[in-house]
Order: sequence, then C-alpha cells, then structure tokens
Amino acid sequence: MIEIKNLRKSFGKLDVLHDIDLTVEQGEVIAIIGPSGSGKSTFLRCLNSLETPTAGSIKIGAHTLKFNDKKPKEREIRSLRSQTAMVFQSFNLFPHLTALENVMEGLVTVQRISRETASTQAKGLLEKVGLAQKQDAFPIQLSGGQQQRVAIARALAMNPSVLLLDEPTSALDPELVGGVLAIIRELSKDKTQTMMIVTHEMNFAREVADRVIFMDEGKIIEMGTSDEVFGHPTHARTKQFLDQLY
Ligand code: ATP
Ligand code: MG
Repeated sequence: MIEIKNLRKSFGKLDVLHDIDLTVEQGEVIAIIGPSGSGKSTFLRCLNSLETPTAGSIKIGAHTLKFNDKKPKEREIRSLRSQTAMVFQSFNLFPHLTALENVMEGLVTVQRISRETASTQAKGLLEKVGLAQKQDAFPIQLSGGQQQRVAIARALAMNPSVLLLDEPTSALDPELVGGVLAIIRELSKDKTQTMMIVTHEMNFAREVADRVIFMDEGKIIEMGTSDEVFGHPTHARTKQFLDQLY
C-alpha cells in the first residue's frame, strides 16, 4: 500500500537520502532507528510532503507522486498528504486553542465537517487517548505527555491510512514517556492504520514493530523483523549502533 522507489533528497549539495526503496503493507507497524543525522526525519517529512524529494516516487494507496525536474501539482501533493498524518517530537499544538479545538481543527477546516459533528468525533478521540477530562484545557495547561496525546488524537482525527510519528516521546520527561507509549502500543494493535515510528526507545520498537529499519547516512542499511534486527543484526553498522546503546 506504500511503495517508495529510488527516493532521493538533497539540500543543496548535501545528499540526505540516497535511493531509498521500501514497500509497506497496509496495517504494518514499522520502526525506524538510526544515528542522529541519518535522515530519519527527512524521510518521514518526504512521506508527509513537508519536504519535496529530489527524485524517485512515492505511492500511497491509489496516489502516486513522481519527483523529477517538474514540480508535482499542488492538488496531487494534497491528495497524497491527505492519507498521512504526522506526530512531531515537539507536539506542535495550536497554543490559542483548547485540547478539544486542536483535535477539531482539521475536521472543520480541512474536512469541512460541521462543528457539532467534529466536536463529537474529537471528544471520542480525546477519550481514546485518556484525556476526556482535559478537553477545555489549553496546551500550556497540559503536561508534555498530555500535549502529545492531544497531538496523537489530532492526527487520528484526519483518519489517515498512514500515521507517521517522529520521536514522539523524546521531548518528554522520563516519567511521562510510558503513558504516551501505551497509547501508541494500543493503536499498533489495531493493525488498521499503517504506522511508521522513528524512535530511540529500542525496547518499545522491538515490542511493537512488525519490521525494523536501520538507517545510516541516508540509506536503509538493514531491515527485518524486530527479532532479526535486534536479535541477529547482520550488518556491522547495525551491530555497532545497537552495541553502543546497551
Ligand atoms: P535525529 O536523530 O537527530 O533527529 P535524523 O536522522 O532525523 O536525526 P534528519 O533531521 O533527517 O536526521 O537530517 C539529516 C541530515 O539532513 C542532517 O545532516 C541535517 O543537517 C540535514 N538537514 C535536514 N533538514 C535540512 C534542511 N531543511 N536544510 C538543510 N539540511 C537539512
Ligand atoms: Mg530526526
């Protein structure tokens, strides 16, 4: 359902992603690990059209975007993007909106759903992430973990076929990490949404991921089930990366 071919991204002279090929099945949970600067965020940002790849193609569901000298049309970018939603390390909630309004925002402005229906749906999602009682709080009144749970609810509101999470717990105080991971763990069990998670939480990655991708210097160095990659890494760079963590 996701097919990425020869994906390349450069920033000026800096080549950040080199000919990435990847196919992901509907409902798969993929963990992406790798050293800082290896291109993990850039890769997710390309999938969400926050960055325009330099070359290659991305197919999600029925939509394919090819990247070459001709810039894709805005309409095509929108159709691709509408199938994904992203959760960022830094939450990125709208500070002037309550938790409920943050979750409703995309439903009302992008999906043009009535405020009443959007409110009902958003309340259901806040309940799903355990925050029903905080619907009227502004981001500043919420802990980092609570803000991230609102951000997850907001992403789910768009009913994306692919949920992209970029280090969703790395800005959190240690005691708040568990609650956010628990929500993501629950979502991963549904197997309805495809999930791609960049994370430094190796135990979590090992537990939830169907497949693990190890990236280094803009390439996929190794890919396999979590037992394969964590238990029996075959590439020297993967071993070295995992060794230094334990
Ligand atoms: P981390 O684990 O630290 O988050 P990462 O694997 O997510 O790292 P990226 O953020 O994708 O790495 O960055 C990969 C490379 O691309 C880095 O060398 C970075 O400096 C460069 N880079 C990322 N965004 C830009 C940009 N907008 N302009 C120029 N260079 C960029
Ligand atoms: Mg990153």
